[in-house]
Amino acid sequence: MTKRDEAVGALIDELRHQGIDEDTVLSAIRSVPRADFVSLLDRQAAYANRPLPIGEGQTISQPYIVALMTQAAGVGRGDRVLEIGTGSGYQTAVLAEMGCVVYSIEIRPALARRAAKLLDRPSWATHLRTGDGNVGWPSAAPFAAILITAAARGLSPALAKQLRPGGRIVAPLGDTDGVQRLVVYEKDADGRLEQTDLGGVRFVPLVSD
Ligand code: SAH
Repeated sequence: MTKRDEAVGALIDELRHQGIDEDTVLSAIRSVPRADFVSLLDRQAAYANRPLPIGEGQTISQPYIVALMTQAAGVGRGDRVLEIGTGSGYQTAVLAEMGCVVYSIEIRPALARRAAKLLDRPSWATHLRTGDGNVGWPSAAPFAAILITAAARGLSPALAKQLRPGGRIVAPLGDTDGVQRLVVYEKDADGRLEQTDLGGVRFVPLVSD
């Protein structure tokens, strides 16, 4: 076993203990090289279960949070997923590795450019855009899931409209400079949103143009 295999194996065990039991999610996390998505200085810590800086004051989320959000989204092969906040591109890659068709928007051009390079693989279906994700991606809607990977005070109605019935939005909502709740909204056949709370989280703020 290589050092990487060992570190990834330990991470997968830890995620299972934390309640991640969806095999498609765990195997995507096993396959995607998180080391590629962190800075050279942090390669040693790439498979530790913690967030890391990615430049411009932004962070790549802790693997547990990526796994939790992905599992909560309830998506699989062929599903269209919208992500707001591409950041490093790691969450995008995990969804793409699961066979999802991912639409991801990043407001910071330098991060968007770096992520685009890392996500350029024939087996990953990703569509990337640089700009303000608050408006969503109307021409690609409706989505099976929408993942917001930066903190907002509330859910934007524009995004809720782009979710298909039966679909889910996963978002950190609350105090954007402090702690938020990780909230899951599921849309019923009548377009109503039912809310579940997955606990406290801490994300960088969602900004707007
Ligand atoms: N999913 C990322 C997490 C990145 S942190 C990962 O796996 O690495 C959140 C990201 O959201 C940052 O890169 C930040 O620049 C971006 N962001 C903040 N506000 C945004 C907005 N309005 N639209 C799109 N991206 C935004």
